Amino acid sequence: MNIGFDLDKIFIDYPPFIPGALIDYLYKDKSNGILRYRLPSKGEQLIRLLTHISFLRPPIMTNMAMIQREESKNGNKFYLISSRFSFLKQQTEKIIEKYGFDKIFDDMFFNFADQQPHLFKSEVVRQLKLDRYIDDDLPLLLFLSKQNKKVVFYWLNNKEKKKIKDNLFAITQLSDILS
Ligand SMILES: [Mg+2]
Repeated sequence: MNIGFDLDKIFIDYPPFIPGALIDYLYKDKSNGILRYRLPSKGEQLIRLLTHISFLRPPIMTNMAMIQREESKNGNKFYLISSRFSFLKQQTEKIIEKYGFDKIFDDMFFNFADQQPHLFKSEVVRQLKLDRYIDDDLPLLLFLSKQNKKVVFYWLNNKEKKKIKDNLFAITQLSDILS
């Protein structure tokens, strides 16, 4: 299978002590119900850069370990697909190197051309002919699952494990994608 993974909150955690809701607020603009992500202003970019200093972004060890296990790999191809904007390019390259993501994944895709994240990801999902894709962003997954009916999507969250619709499932552990 071709399996795609998001980066933030799948393998790299949000900073401790800063509420996740604030981080989400900095990224999303959902005022009219249409999915849209904001490209932040210069001042805001600086704040966000600070929250991306690598010691503030601890790796999620259980998930890192899971995809590195031999039995997880088992003929599957793993792709890292992150919609981080270009102003985070340097920080992102640093963590890629620090954690050896380039060795863990078969290929990596980044949104350094600053497209809308959901459009960028939908394009990559199609290009790679993914069978499965995992993310922590539910509104984004609802969009992707509508656009890509043959792909199975997984929403990694810490509350519930259930079927949301035919090709979208809520899971609480990353290993659930292989069952
Ligand atoms: Mg994420």
